[in-house]
Amino acid sequence: MKDAYTLADLRDWAAVTAGESPPIRLSVFGDPVAHSRSPQMHNPALQAAGIKAAYARLHILPDELAEALRLLPERDFIGTNVTIPHKAAALALMDEVEPQARRSGGVNTVVVEGRKLVGFSTDGPGLVRAIRSEFGFDLRDLRVLILGAGGGAGRAIAVQCAIEGSARLVLVNRTFERAQALAAELAPEFRETRVTGPLMRLEAVPWNDAALARQLPHVDLVINATPLGMASGEFRRVSPIPAALLRPNHLVYDTVYTSGRTPLLMAADETGARAANGLSMLLYQGALSFEIWFGRPAPIDVMRTALLAL
Ligand code: NAP
Repeated sequence: MKDAYTLADLRDWAAVTAGESPPIRLSVFGDPVAHSRSPQMHNPALQAAGIKAAYARLHILPDELAEALRLLPERDFIGTNVTIPHKAAALALMDEVEPQARRSGGVNTVVVEGRKLVGFSTDGPGLVRAIRSEFGFDLRDLRVLILGAGGGAGRAIAVQCAIEGSARLVLVNRTFERAQALAAELAPEFRETRVTGPLMRLEAVPWNDAALARQLPHVDLVINATPLGMASGEFRRVSPIPAALLRPNHLVYDTVYTSGRTPLLMAADETGARAANGLSMLLYQGALSFEIWFGRPAPIDVMRTALLAL
């Protein structure tokens, strides 16, 4: 199997993948896609479940997305995952979209049903499971602050907080207008008061130390949904917030996943706060995709072991 296939490969699929056994019938579309750990998680899961299909990376450029998706039924695919930067564009290219994906504004899981493409989003539900497994809490019982609430992952998480009825939600984004727009959209779901305190149940706040210092004593869970802290590239040493603003009672979740401690996790360690990186979100969103494709529980232990072995 190649590290990553291309649209040209998909056009000529039978010839390019002749001899592949089991046949490639699942994939992740991305640009870039080389970093994706999904094949390492899904291939052992498929094997453990006795499913004769393999999962590959497909490097698809934005202007190639429509054609690549349309080729999937003809190439006998079961489905595909969709990652950066395609989630929002893929939503518009589906024949049917499940309500959760429509609300979260993006599709990360596609199911091929005959000639039809059906879109789902497992990022928000994956985060719910990740928070439960890492910290033993349900999102609905927590006061949540999201850094990067204007991006795709931040939006999916914020929508999930609305669906769950989280106790409080604070939306923080570098481009403040995007956090404000999301807060306006979610406002009807946060009308009911669930917590008493000096601050509103739903707020969009600008990204600066003074605003964060005011909010952080009134939240339980801090989530980084920006790329700050990613293992490679310009952001690798940058924590989205300084240790001085965190408290020991905070739960800190970094959607960035690297095998080591991210800068945000190191800041949490310095403060004594419990913290976890995004590997568990990756694991559970993948497990939920598997369940959607096959209608049976995913072999979660196999997937976790495979991810941790990297
Ligand atoms: P995206 O749609 O491009 O959004 C990026 C977000 O980060 C925006 O809110 C953006 O703010 C903010 N941002 C970017 N650079 C920044 C900087 N220098 N300072 C402050 N804020 C900055 O990307 P995405 O798809 O949401 O992905 C974001 C991150 O989530 C990824 O890097 C990935 O690590 C993580 N993720 C993890 C999982 C998982 O399973 N663990 C799943 C999905 C995503 P502006 O609005 O101001 O541009």
